[in-house]
Amino acid sequence: MRGTIVKGIAGFYYVKSEEQVYQCRARGIFKKEGITPLVGDRVEFEPGTGTDEDDGWVTEIEGRKNQFIRPPVANVDCFVVVFAAAHPKPNLAVADRFLVMAEKSDTDIIFCINKTDLDKKGMVQRLEEIYAPVYPIIRLSGTTGRGIEELRQAIVGKRTALAGPSGVGKSTILNCLIPGATAQTGDVSQKTKRGKHTTRHCELFDLGNETMIFDTPGFTSFEISDVEEEELQHLYPEMRPFLGACRYDDCRHLKEPECAVRQAVEEGKISSPRYESYQAQIAEIQEKNRY
Ligand code: GDP
Ligand code: ZN
Repeated sequence: MRGTIVKGIAGFYYVKSEEQVYQCRARGIFKKEGITPLVGDRVEFEPGTGTDEDDGWVTEIEGRKNQFIRPPVANVDCFVVVFAAAHPKPNLAVADRFLVMAEKSDTDIIFCINKTDLDKKGMVQRLEEIYAPVYPIIRLSGTTGRGIEELRQAIVGKRTALAGPSGVGKSTILNCLIPGATAQTGDVSQKTKRGKHTTRHCELFDLGNETMIFDTPGFTSFEISDVEEEELQHLYPEMRPFLGACRYDDCRHLKEPECAVRQAVEEGKISSPRYESYQAQIAEIQEKNRY
């Protein structure tokens, strides 16, 4: 049978196939090959009879589209990158790290501005000016429910993960998206514990319609370290149209003469804060490569 690993706890893998979840173990060969099954893996498995003594076996893991170490999940189709209009105040450098990570993982990206109910300083508008030219944006409020239906529509047919700094409202949004999550986890105090370091495992929730959402701790920080210097420019979608037009083929768009990217920044075709993040990230990668 074929299915998807939706949960892994203490050597057991829970494989969902056609509305049923099967408790499985992984064949020893994976361990020998150094492969750990991950939540999100599409697998072949032999189901057991469903009794405690008779678990099924995961026999084959399909090639992964992408995989992550922290949190340990695979096959993310779409990152919903969440920032708050306030509390915590958005940090653009951090936002652009998340976006580069998502681009590097070859996923769809939706930029969400949560806590729009707290916006007093025009932060929502400022974020939109910077990110709307590059990514689809959804304004959310986990408190009032604003934008939740729009987000629900935007992730149909995908396997989505929420990313963003801690405190921006990822768990709150997740609880809005997963029907009955509150009921499932019990009372409000239970619900608010989600994501507050009490969730040790990752889980993939089926929303129906081929739509799934990862409930994971993590995706709260990201090291730029595995991006190559040459690669970074391609992870800024708004730079792509200009890349062939610089004087030097190996232009890094920093101080080189006749740089089409820098010219685009000067003409307002690429936003300055985004370009500044690019500069800072290039510097960080170059610094790392010196050692
Ligand atoms: P996470 O760390 O990203 O998972 O953030 P949480 O979901 O735990 O939310 C952090 C805090 O922000 C909690 O106290 C939430 O009740 C609150 N919160 C979440 N979304 C909103 C929102 O849209 N507006 C307001 N005012 N508070 C929110
Ligand atoms: Zn250039």
